Amino acid sequence: MITRRRFARQRVAKVRHGGTEKVSPDATALVVGGGIAGLAAATVLAERGVQVTVIEKESFLGGRAGAFPDRLEDGTAFEMERGFHGFFRQYYNLQAMLRRVDPGLTFLIPLRDYPLLGPDGARETFSDLPRRAPFNIVELVRRTDTMGLGDLAKVGARRALAILAYEGELTYERFDDMTAGAYLDSLRFPKAARQMLFDVFSHSFFNPEEGYSAAELLMNFHFYFMGNPEGLVFDVCNDPFSTVIWDPYRRYLEELGVDFVMGKAVTRLDRDGDGYRCSLDDGEAVCADAAVLAVTVPGLSRLVDASPDLADPSFAESVAKADVTLPFAVLRLWLDRPVEAGRSPFVGTAGLGILDNISIYDLFEGESREWVKAHGGSVVELHAYAVPEEMDEETIREELLSQLHSLYPETRDAEIVEERFLLRRDCPAFGPGSYRTRPTVETPYRGLCLAGDFVKTPFPSALMERSAATGFMAANRILERWQGREEPIWSVPPRGMLARLGALAAS
Ligand SMILES: Cc1cc2nc3c(=O)[nH]c(=O)nc-3n(C[C@H](O)[C@H](O)[C@H](O)COP(=O)(O)OP(=O)(O)OC[C@H]3O[C@@H](n4cnc5c(N)ncnc54)[C@H](O)[C@@H]3O)c2cc1C
Repeated sequence: MITRRRFARQRVAKVRHGGTEKVSPDATALVVGGGIAGLAAATVLAERGVQVTVIEKESFLGGRAGAFPDRLEDGTAFEMERGFHGFFRQYYNLQAMLRRVDPGLTFLIPLRDYPLLGPDGARETFSDLPRRAPFNIVELVRRTDTMGLGDLAKVGARRALAILAYEGELTYERFDDMTAGAYLDSLRFPKAARQMLFDVFSHSFFNPEEGYSAAELLMNFHFYFMGNPEGLVFDVCNDPFSTVIWDPYRRYLEELGVDFVMGKAVTRLDRDGDGYRCSLDDGEAVCADAAVLAVTVPGLSRLVDASPDLADPSFAESVAKADVTLPFAVLRLWLDRPVEAGRSPFVGTAGLGILDNISIYDLFEGESREWVKAHGGSVVELHAYAVPEEMDEETIREELLSQLHSLYPETRDAEIVEERFLLRRDCPAFGPGSYRTRPTVETPYRGLCLAGDFVKTPFPSALMERSAATGFMAANRILERWQGREEPIWSVPPRGMLARLGALAAS
């Protein structure tokens, strides 16, 4: 259950005053993609009375934050997720969306600590930090063993100021062409401090430091840490995403009249008079006045390539330049014995090969807890982000297991009762210089919008929150045509506390 301090968030979008609660009953829209972005757009459109059709190529909703039915060999049914997710407290737009089905967000439970484990027993914690910059960063640096006062004197202070001076376009202008790795090098933090305080952070966005924009990293420092009045702690779902989010969400949307076409991919989009016609992979087609494309980066590029009516050169260029980052791997294990008492439900890791985090599912998720109650043991999930392309599945799995064994020695002799391994490549890249051509919610085509976690927002946002925010923005844009009331859009304070010193920080 989340309690939120209202002063923390800011309304960012320009507000069109008024607007009708219910638009003409003839208004229709297509939403391609049933992930967070697509369902956020569908929500606002359907609530204003638009007849919405959601088309999703998978058989389940939620996209990368979805879950699908599976069965263990012992017959136990369970929902396999695309991977553990943290719901941060400053995800105001995502929370507004999820409150539609659970006004108190009772399915979210807080993780009080978010420890970070490194080589040779190194450990940092993000719990109980002050919520405001610069006190949070001062306290983090004070409490770490990875650097002393002497090291602090050597830090590239001017460059480090950019962390406190995030200022939207200006930060992107100055830092987007630099890699995150080069920026972090320029701070001259000791190796261990850099690894424990920064490397894990940049990896959490699925991108390798050498292929990640420094401006995007600075935006994320601001969004998750410096400019985040809620603190760097997060909540987790107390049951699978399908059970607590997407099943009730589908019912909510269906009650508003939304049609779902599941298990069919959209292969092409054509203009159809003043609206759009989308062709499905089974030869059927769906037509509507407006459309939101809320698909993954590869999904969008395939769709645009196959749609001659979407050939506007600058639009086609921005889609062609959008890219996916390196693959990520998720290994879920059902072990025959528990992990040691006192292990945290979730830990991040740094400097331990490809391993990025460990979650002990039975410590927070009902379905896993039930399995452990019935069979003993534990349910453990390991993640690796930005996995080198040349690594094969077996090597990834073995390295993840060996890092688990070294960090949690009690798992060395555990029998793996069952396991699931996912290796996917559908998270967006934020490469150096990509901001200029990054796709936006608006397209050159009337009534056609984009949404997703790769789409540019004029305020700080990332991952699930960016998907929800761009979904709302896409719906707002489409509603303009029918004078429909806008959905409010929220953000953390959009500028850093030292934003006015940005020029100094950049010099
Ligand atoms: C392992 C893992 C861990 C993560 N952890 C976190 C976390 O802790 N916190 C956080 O905020 N975020 C996290 N994320 C990121 C988060 O999952 C995404 O940012 C978010 O879910 C993206 O939502 P979306 O709607 O933009 O895209 P998606 O969820 O990818 O939705 C796009 C949808 O479009 C569908 N589609 C594609 N092409 C077509 C087509 N042609 N026709 C019809 N449908 C199509 C896809 O099947 C998919 O359902 C994590 C992601 C992963 C993979």
